[in-house]
Amino acid sequence: MIIFKKPGALYKVLEEKRVDQKIIGFAPTMGALHAGHLSLVKEAKQENDLVVTSIFVNPTQFNDPEDFKKYPVTIEKDILMFEKEGSHVLFLPSVQDIYPNGIRDLKHYELGFLETILEGKFRPGHFQGVCQVMHRLLEIILPDNLYLGQKDYQQCMVIKKLVELTGLDHKIKVNICPTLREGDGLAMSSRNTRLDPGDRIKATTISAALRYIKENVTQGNTKGITDEAAAMLLQKGFKTDYVEIANADTLDTVEDWDGKEKIVALAAAFLNNIRLIDNMVINP
Ligand code: AMP
Repeated sequence: MIIFKKPGALYKVLEEKRVDQKIIGFAPTMGALHAGHLSLVKEAKQENDLVVTSIFVNPTQFNDPEDFKKYPVTIEKDILMFEKEGSHVLFLPSVQDIYPNGIRDLKHYELGFLETILEGKFRPGHFQGVCQVMHRLLEIILPDNLYLGQKDYQQCMVIKKLVELTGLDHKIKVNICPTLREGDGLAMSSRNTRLDPGDRIKATTISAALRYIKENVTQGNTKGITDEAAAMLLQKGFKTDYVEIANADTLDTVEDWDGKEKIVALAAAFLNNIRLIDNMVINP
């Protein structure tokens, strides 16, 4: 695996690969890797000649400065994990490399409705930050295939929209990979490492509540079942931002379900200042 720190050097090497007609797959991450991240590499390896990964903890997408400060960093272990999984190229830029003109007055992206709901509503500015870093990374790497995890359901939709807004959709195909879970159902996440042992056990309640919705939701009003799921979280001491059932393609809230519309249940909740999110598509 070759490690690049400078965008220019990476761009040049990838340009040569493109001239050689190599198909390039890209899996961006913020590091503190787990098997969920590696599953993106696995998928990319099957469909591309060259797999590029990146690790960059993007300051502009953290609406909470404490969360940014405490974001886990395990860079040496991460390098070994990516190498072992077969990533060919790892991009490790600095903040200065990604934002050469600083992090103020960055471009604004017209995300519309998507930015006003769920994660967008509870983390103001978060998706602008996601777009700022992803736009820059995509321009440097110009992959044929981009690999994202369903774990961040709304983020996948935002990045798809970004790819369209920037005209990169002619070049880049966005691939969404399934959420990898721990044995007890907890969605794998870098933030899970910050949970103390007691909270780690309680944390499974998020996936349990979503599974409860998936297994029990029926045609008609959905408020009763989302309230029940929220009560499960409250009982374990979570501070919940949202538990919602939404249209799986638009993320419009579904208050009355006709039993056929494709829907997804999504939740975000804090356990002692650690914010966890998860989702389950009800009728894939
Ligand atoms: P992050 O490092 O959290 O920014 O995540 C980098 C990429 O890995 C994103 O596309 C995530 O959606 C994806 N990802 C994170 N957790 C999981 C998981 N448990 N299963 C599959 N993909 C994941």
